[in-house]
Amino acid sequence: MSNYQVETKCVQSGYTPKNGEPRFAPIVQSTTFKYDDGEQVGKLFNLESEGYFYSRLANPTVDVVEKKICDLEGGVGAMCCASGMSAIMLAIMNIVHAGEHIIATNAIYGGSFNLLNVSLRKLGIETTFVPTDVSEEELRKEIRDNTRLIYSETVTNPGLEIVDLEMFARVAHDNGIPFCVDNTFATPINCRPIEYGADIVVHSTSKYMDGHAVAMGGCIVDSGKFDWAASGKFPEFTEPDDSYHGVVYVKQFGELAYITKARVQVMRDTGMIMSPNTAFLLNLGLDTLALRVERHCSNAQRIAEYLSKHNKVEKVYYPGLSEDKYYDMAQKYMPKGTSGVVSFLVKGGREKAMAFMAELKLAMICVHVADARTCILHPASSTHRQMTDEQLAAAGIEGGQIRLSVGIENVEDIIADLEQGFSAI
Ligand SMILES: *Cc1c(COP(=O)(O)O)cnc(C)c1O
Repeated sequence: MSNYQVETKCVQSGYTPKNGEPRFAPIVQSTTFKYDDGEQVGKLFNLESEGYFYSRLANPTVDVVEKKICDLEGGVGAMCCASGMSAIMLAIMNIVHAGEHIIATNAIYGGSFNLLNVSLRKLGIETTFVPTDVSEEELRKEIRDNTRLIYSETVTNPGLEIVDLEMFARVAHDNGIPFCVDNTFATPINCRPIEYGADIVVHSTSKYMDGHAVAMGGCIVDSGKFDWAASGKFPEFTEPDDSYHGVVYVKQFGELAYITKARVQVMRDTGMIMSPNTAFLLNLGLDTLALRVERHCSNAQRIAEYLSKHNKVEKVYYPGLSEDKYYDMAQKYMPKGTSGVVSFLVKGGREKAMAFMAELKLAMICVHVADARTCILHPASSTHRQMTDEQLAAAGIEGGQIRLSVGIENVEDIIADLEQGFSAI
């Protein structure tokens, strides 16, 4: 499928039915699979032949979605997980261990920030946070001997900051470590980070990919480009894995070393797998991803322009506005659009922002973003409430800030809803 454009891949990749088979990939709701003899099962366990044996490791329906997302991102392999957070956890756990160090940008999704800042610290993994617009020189200064990963988001949630992908990848590669990027907001329709040097791409598929707010999910995509052996910093890929019959991942799996280890070792041991049912729904959502993202972005652009001229709005953050700090970065890495999320400050701060939100009818208050229906959220009192004021400020969030996830409705209806909200305050 790799010669097709993304719009075609959204509907065609991952599954080609054989004669008489269902046109759309069916749900294989089964934990286990039958074999004629023990020999075959042994080969599967030894990773000597391909096939399904237990749905904690692989399942035909999940496999279809993994292949589709992999193709959309231009990777060599992908693994779907139970949620975006589990994808991020496993992507990290596959290569970073107690006593080692991560560098991450500070404006990332609140859940990811807490994972790095609290939970992984408890497991002995330390993270240094840097601003999204960190200079190359400053980023290089944070590298330590034990740094094993640089982590960021293409478009940060909810600050809508855009990372300089090529620069981050360069610093990572000069130091023999991979660059992992969360591409949830941009989606592969707007940006394919692997083309700019990212080694690992993670997703919360619960957002635009699913698109209908019906199924939690995540995905890890392996670019296949990072040379684990040459780096010398990841002996797990070059030395036998005692927990897996002494397999040496780079030898046996080559460019698929990372994603294979993620599955047969880390997924095997943690079980954060996507369910076949979720994969079915996600596959359905992915069919229309390109169409929806295009509409989300054109609607959001119109609304950002409307808000930026509104006398009750103090400031608008949207990388598609020419006055936005990240406009040039957006033009470079995602000229088709960034996402459908617009962030803005209502004049009068927290109180006025809450009053404005209470008046809205079409834009509903939801702890979610990036689905077909317009929704609205106040990050400081919801998704980011664990953060101190200093951490909030560092993540680019203010008390009166509102995050509007623009849906695919008619844009005039959304604007009319916002207008009646503003006129009430
Ligand atoms: C929502 C989100 C996550 C977490 O994903 P879940 O599916 O909710 O676990 C991670 N990163 C980003 C950018 C997100 O928006």
